[in-house]
Amino acid sequence: MANFSDEASTGFTYLLHQEMDIVADFSVITDKCIKDLLCIDACPSGAIHPTPDEPRFSEVTQLYIDAEQCSNCGSCYVTCEVNAIFGAGELPEEFAEFAEINAEFFRC
Ligand code: SF4
Repeated sequence: MANFSDEASTGFTYLLHQEMDIVADFSVITDKCIKDLLCIDACPSGAIHPTPDEPRFSEVTQLYIDAEQCSNCGSCYVTCEVNAIFGAGELPEEFAEFAEINAEFFRC
Protein backbone atom coordinates (compact mmCIF):
# COMPACT_ATOMS: atom_id res chain seq x y z
CA MET A 1 0.00 0.00 0.00
CA ALA A 2 2.99 2.28 -0.36
CA ASN A 3 1.28 4.30 -3.08
CA PHE A 4 -1.68 5.28 -0.92
CA SER A 5 -1.79 8.43 1.18
CA ASP A 6 -2.06 7.80 4.93
CA GLU A 7 -5.76 8.62 4.84
CA ALA A 8 -6.53 6.40 1.86
CA SER A 9 -4.39 3.63 3.28
CA THR A 10 -6.21 3.62 6.60
CA GLY A 11 -9.58 3.62 4.90
CA PHE A 12 -8.48 0.93 2.48
CA THR A 13 -7.21 -1.27 5.31
CA TYR A 14 -10.51 -0.92 7.12
CA LEU A 15 -12.55 -1.74 4.03
CA LEU A 16 -10.29 -4.67 3.21
CA HIS A 17 -10.77 -6.06 6.69
CA GLN A 18 -14.52 -5.64 6.38
CA GLU A 19 -14.46 -7.43 3.00
CA MET A 20 -12.37 -10.25 4.41
CA ASP A 21 -14.47 -10.37 7.59
CA ILE A 22 -11.36 -9.67 9.65
CA VAL A 23 -12.37 -7.29 12.40
CA ALA A 24 -10.07 -6.19 15.19
CA ASP A 25 -11.77 -6.20 18.55
CA PHE A 26 -11.33 -2.50 19.17
CA SER A 27 -9.66 0.64 17.94
CA VAL A 28 -6.77 2.65 19.33
CA ILE A 29 -5.97 6.37 19.24
CA THR A 30 -2.34 7.40 18.86
CA ASP A 31 -0.52 10.60 19.73
CA LYS A 32 -1.26 11.94 16.27
CA CYS A 33 -4.56 12.98 17.89
CA ILE A 34 -5.15 16.74 17.99
CA LYS A 35 -8.26 16.61 20.25
CA ASP A 36 -10.51 18.17 17.63
CA LEU A 37 -13.41 16.04 18.94
CA LEU A 38 -14.55 14.81 15.53
CA CYS A 39 -14.31 11.17 16.58
CA ILE A 40 -16.26 11.75 19.80
CA ASP A 41 -19.15 13.09 17.77
CA ALA A 42 -18.89 10.19 15.31
CA CYS A 43 -18.71 7.36 17.84
CA PRO A 44 -22.09 5.67 18.35
CA SER A 45 -20.79 3.77 21.37
CA GLY A 46 -19.53 6.65 23.48
CA ALA A 47 -16.20 4.85 23.62
CA ILE A 48 -13.93 7.87 23.21
CA HIS A 49 -12.80 9.84 26.25
CA PRO A 50 -12.27 12.19 27.88
CA THR A 51 -15.12 14.26 26.52
CA PRO A 52 -14.89 18.05 27.04
CA ASP A 53 -17.22 17.86 30.04
CA GLU A 54 -15.08 15.28 31.81
CA PRO A 55 -12.52 16.48 34.38
CA ARG A 56 -9.42 15.09 32.69
CA PHE A 57 -10.09 16.65 29.28
CA SER A 58 -7.81 19.62 29.91
CA GLU A 59 -5.06 17.40 31.33
CA VAL A 60 -4.56 15.09 28.36
CA THR A 61 -2.80 15.68 25.08
CA GLN A 62 -4.90 13.15 23.14
CA LEU A 63 -8.14 11.19 23.35
CA TYR A 64 -8.42 7.47 24.13
CA ILE A 65 -10.74 4.61 23.20
CA ASP A 66 -12.29 2.33 25.80
CA ALA A 67 -11.77 -1.14 24.32
CA GLU A 68 -14.71 -2.50 26.30
CA GLN A 69 -17.12 0.02 24.78
CA CYS A 70 -15.71 0.07 21.24
CA SER A 71 -17.55 -2.03 18.67
CA ASN A 72 -14.88 -1.36 16.04
CA CYS A 73 -17.51 0.07 13.72
CA GLY A 74 -14.93 2.23 11.92
CA SER A 75 -16.82 5.51 12.18
CA CYS A 76 -13.90 7.20 13.90
CA TYR A 77 -11.37 5.92 11.34
CA VAL A 78 -13.05 7.74 8.51
CA THR A 79 -13.81 10.83 10.59
CA CYS A 80 -10.31 11.47 11.94
CA GLU A 81 -8.66 14.08 9.73
CA VAL A 82 -5.14 13.33 10.97
CA ASN A 83 -5.39 9.52 10.74
CA ALA A 84 -4.67 9.05 14.42
CA ILE A 85 -6.86 5.95 14.83
CA PHE A 86 -6.06 2.34 13.99
CA GLY A 87 -7.53 -1.06 14.66
CA ALA A 88 -5.69 -2.72 17.52
CA GLY A 89 -4.64 -5.49 15.17
CA GLU A 90 -3.22 -3.16 12.56
CA LEU A 91 -1.25 -0.65 14.59
CA PRO A 92 1.93 0.36 12.77
CA GLU A 93 5.03 -0.67 14.71
CA GLU A 94 5.81 2.90 15.74
CA PHE A 95 2.43 3.12 17.46
CA ALA A 96 2.37 -0.38 18.99
CA GLU A 97 2.57 0.98 22.53
CA PHE A 98 -0.69 2.90 22.15
CA ALA A 99 -2.97 -0.09 22.73
CA GLU A 100 -1.60 -0.20 26.27
CA ILE A 101 -1.56 3.59 26.58
CA ASN A 102 -5.27 3.72 25.69
CA ALA A 103 -6.03 0.92 28.16
CA GLU A 104 -4.04 2.63 30.91
CA PHE A 105 -6.15 5.78 30.63
CA PHE A 106 -9.26 3.83 31.65
CA ARG A 107 -7.53 2.14 34.58
CA CYS A 108 -6.77 5.50 36.23
S1 SF4 B 1 -14.51 2.19 16.06
FE1 SF4 B 1 -16.66 2.91 16.29
S2 SF4 B 1 -17.22 2.29 18.39
FE2 SF4 B 1 -14.95 2.19 18.27
S3 SF4 B 1 -14.25 4.21 19.01
FE3 SF4 B 1 -14.39 4.31 16.75
S4 SF4 B 1 -16.47 5.17 16.36
FE4 SF4 B 1 -16.44 4.39 18.49
